[in-house]
Amino acid sequence: MGAQNVRSGTAPRMPYPPNSAVTDGGMVNQFLIGLAALAVIAAAAFGIWWLRVHSRKDFGRADAAHRAAFEQSPNSVLIVDAASLKVIDANASLQRSLGYTLSEVCGVSVAQLFTDESGEPEALIRRLRDPNLRLPFEICQRSKTGALRSVEVTVQRLDLGKRHLLVLAAHDVTVRRKVEAQLLEKQQRLDHLAHHDQLTGLPNRLYLAAHLPGAIAEAKRTSAMLAVLFLDLDRFKHINDSRGHETGDKLLKAVAQRIRETMRTEDMVVRMGGDEFIVVLKTVKNTDQVNEAAGRITEALSAPVIVDGRPLVTTASIGVSLYPRDGSDMGELLRHSDTAMYQAKDRGRNNFQLFSPIMARRLKERMAIETSLRTALQTGQLDVHYQPIVDIQTSRVVALESLLRWKHPSHGFVPPERFVAVAEEAGLIVPIGEFVLARAVEDIARWRQVGCVQVPVAVNISAVQLQRSNLPATITRLTQQHGVSPKMLQLELTESAVFERREGRTGESNEDAVGRLRELGVRIAIDDFGTGYSSLSYLKRWRVDYLKIDRSFVRDLVTDMSDLAIVGAIIAMARHLNIQVVAEGIEGWQQLEKLRQLGCSLAQGYLFAKPVPEEQCRRYLSGEPLDLTEHDPLLEALEATGT
Ligand code: C2E
Ligand code: MG
Ligand code: MG
Repeated sequence: MGAQNVRSGTAPRMPYPPNSAVTDGGMVNQFLIGLAALAVIAAAAFGIWWLRVHSRKDFGRADAAHRAAFEQSPNSVLIVDAASLKVIDANASLQRSLGYTLSEVCGVSVAQLFTDESGEPEALIRRLRDPNLRLPFEICQRSKTGALRSVEVTVQRLDLGKRHLLVLAAHDVTVRRKVEAQLLEKQQRLDHLAHHDQLTGLPNRLYLAAHLPGAIAEAKRTSAMLAVLFLDLDRFKHINDSRGHETGDKLLKAVAQRIRETMRTEDMVVRMGGDEFIVVLKTVKNTDQVNEAAGRITEALSAPVIVDGRPLVTTASIGVSLYPRDGSDMGELLRHSDTAMYQAKDRGRNNFQLFSPIMARRLKERMAIETSLRTALQTGQLDVHYQPIVDIQTSRVVALESLLRWKHPSHGFVPPERFVAVAEEAGLIVPIGEFVLARAVEDIARWRQVGCVQVPVAVNISAVQLQRSNLPATITRLTQQHGVSPKMLQLELTESAVFERREGRTGESNEDAVGRLRELGVRIAIDDFGTGYSSLSYLKRWRVDYLKIDRSFVRDLVTDMSDLAIVGAIIAMARHLNIQVVAEGIEGWQQLEKLRQLGCSLAQGYLFAKPVPEEQCRRYLSGEPLDLTEHDPLLEALEATGT
């Protein structure tokens, strides 16, 4: 029976190059094919002998050599009457393997001695009588005791005048089957190992590559919808870094199990690597069903995971693409679910997003900017301009803000708003930010050399830079290199960059990172103040030096009473906390006058000066008050439009 099981087993899928097991199998096969060939030769030799014997019509004088070849062949050979299919003769090997004597076996029907997988004697008989039968085939041989064993049979037809015979040469393939079964098992084990993730036991990306195309084809065939969910754990890296990889691994195992349990058996749950999982929902009826599945995952992950007795909370961002709506093949569906997942991250994590073509367009645009930004950094297309920050009472320049400029060879100036966010996402903000810092320190040293009045330079620092680079080390290195005091630098950070409870790659909180910068003597300014979310207690605790009121509040200060109230409140609050206030984006005299009345001490805007390159900036560094009458924004605007 074992042999039957083996025979009926289906061959394993082999999507990968042959491995050693397959090579071993190949050698065994070659050997066994050789054996089969021998059997065919023996059968043929015996056939010739039979022809000769019959042509002489003299059994008694049969050639002794041929008889011996028949008798002593290691293969079982038997001669059968083609019409009745009854045995006429059988060699010793066959008698042995069947347990019959020659006299017992002669006259027995082949259907009694052999059976094929159909188990129907008629089917076997039809097969043996098939005039086109040439190749060996596998059947079961039934011994006298009823034991079955797998044999490979070659059938040779002999036509002796009116008499038609069949010569059956059979050789035992039980060993071969056993070896094949072992190879199959080994192959299946290797196959399982290659297609499953060791940590979580879930199928892996190779499994997905082998099975998703089939699932898509099935959906196509049945005109069904299929959903690919791309799932990325939020801030898993932080858990890994701060709690250690062992804890991270345990969390991943628990998460994998929860996702698997949440899904239907027919759905695929795959670990792509790291903290990324793919769920494939087959036969989806509508988007509600997808929303519901994604919601179930979010819900399942919402309960804390207890690892080593401590609760860990993890959430996931999920992006979804649908077949056929969002893609026709695996690559497209995975790419689009990945895009949607990034959108989910952008929308504050712990949510899911369905892919939309707008996302793809944005992504394409972002990638184009990213590529040309890399070139820009390497080919010197980036520059730094400076804009004065002025003391409202004296009109003297008290600081300069450095502002990044990108002059694209064909597109001209690209505004920072268009590329800073891209640079942050791509991690490019770290080298770009370092470029700006280096330029600022170099320019401070240069201005000192040419005898300009020394004022601090404010440098914009993105949250990513704060978390991912070692800013204190960079600043120490640059300032020492150029003999400039770190006190000459002011770092402008946005509210979210400073106050959001985020931790950097070293597990250091933003608060600690800012604290280390302050220890160097660097001043800290909160940029675009009022647009984010700040708490007064933070401002107090962190000893912020400057607040820069965002341009959006200053713009309508004169006409909008609520803006006036907000700006007034910020200035009053800052005064109590001993923090200086800079009003951004002042373009008119009336705004300046209002700010003066509210008690604002510092200002920045086109009314005083626009951002300009380093050489032009020197004129602001004479120590003299700025002559504001030489700047008329209205006139400048008219000049710019050519009217
Ligand atoms: P920000 O730090 O708030 O910089 C002030 C922005 O307001 C600058 O825009 C400046 O040119 C503009 N501005 C100043 N006065 C006026 C005015 O009177 N009217 C108007 N309409 N605009 C005025 P810019 O240079 O386009 O920079 C935009 C933003 O890009 C900056 O806002 C900052 O967040 C970011 N950025 C610029 N340079 C860097 C940099 O080196 N690193 C990083 N991370 N971000 C930068
Ligand atoms: Mg700024
Ligand atoms: Mg600002």
